[in-house]
Amino acid sequence: MVLRHVYRSIRAKAPYKHSRSFSQLHSGSRWPSFGIAFDIDGVILRGNEPIGNSPQALKRLYTDCGKLKFPFIFLTNGGGVPESKRAIELSKMLEVNIQPLQVVQGHSPFKQLVNRYENDLIVAVGKGEPAAVMSEYGFKKVISIDQYALFFDNIDPLGPYKKWVTKMTLDNERTYSKEDIYSERVKSAFIVSDPVDWSRDIQVLCDILRCGGLPGREYSHQPPLYFASDDLEYQAAFPIERLGMGAFRITLESIFNRISYSPLKYTSYGKPNPTVFENARSILESLPLDCDPHTANGHGASRQPLDTLYMVGDNPVVDIKGACQAGRPWFSILTRTGVFKGKGNHEQFPADIVVDTVEEAVDYILKKECRNGS
Ligand SMILES: [Mg+2]
Repeated sequence: MVLRHVYRSIRAKAPYKHSRSFSQLHSGSRWPSFGIAFDIDGVILRGNEPIGNSPQALKRLYTDCGKLKFPFIFLTNGGGVPESKRAIELSKMLEVNIQPLQVVQGHSPFKQLVNRYENDLIVAVGKGEPAAVMSEYGFKKVISIDQYALFFDNIDPLGPYKKWVTKMTLDNERTYSKEDIYSERVKSAFIVSDPVDWSRDIQVLCDILRCGGLPGREYSHQPPLYFASDDLEYQAAFPIERLGMGAFRITLESIFNRISYSPLKYTSYGKPNPTVFENARSILESLPLDCDPHTANGHGASRQPLDTLYMVGDNPVVDIKGACQAGRPWFSILTRTGVFKGKGNHEQFPADIVVDTVEEAVDYILKKECRNGS
């Protein structure tokens, strides 16, 4: 297959000096010197459908008996379900064995905040099972905004007109009494995944945030607010990009700043934040591999630093910008199956190379890294 590479001039002409072929590594040991981070939406999947021959491409990263051969993770700004559940879903869709450790979602860094809010009442917002996600991370008093809003009569004046709301699912979620909710202020709100009912969520969040964590009370200090990502748009099943969490953030912020005395304070995670790439690197360097003697007993161990880390993404302002900001040893590969659909490279955030599909990306990587291919 002929790759339609668009090399970024200087970087492509000067490939990594220290890039080593697979067979040259570690005195005959067979540890790869590279790792790969794949974005999901617009690279691996569109909606729930695999694209770009992603199942076939990923199979090349496993041994014949289905064990992981080359370290790779999914690095997505999406989410809404626990990593363990998402790993099972991806394994079925892509027909390879994905471990929970290989799934890094936009909200995965929230687990670092457990010590701060472990026993505090926190609200989780978004599609899927946001409360289950936070509970799995170790937060003990988490409530979804769906359940929380039910405790406040008439908090959403448009609620009676939302005839599309046919059922309320509180699966895997702890239930609370009215006394629980009225006796404690919300200490922080987490936008775990894309909000579903924007009008209600904006209303209830404005109430929580400007009333010191308890809607209907006097105006008070804003509790902390966290977003799992800040994507303005992303590629879903519809042909044109859809509004993402960044669009929701802009909407909430615009309204809050008009009705509140002080501007909205918040923290956003997800790509292109450099800490996401640092975390991805550390996971890739400790991922248990079939060929790794350190993991023969089933436990991952930190190996030598990887020489090259590939970021395969479809969104220049998220995936490629992030990899560029993270710097070496990250190497960015832009696909044309998602947000980016141009013929050449992206002007503002050019990738190291541009390919049509994830299959071409994997082909490029394996040819470059392995003398004899995979
Ligand atoms: Mg994407």
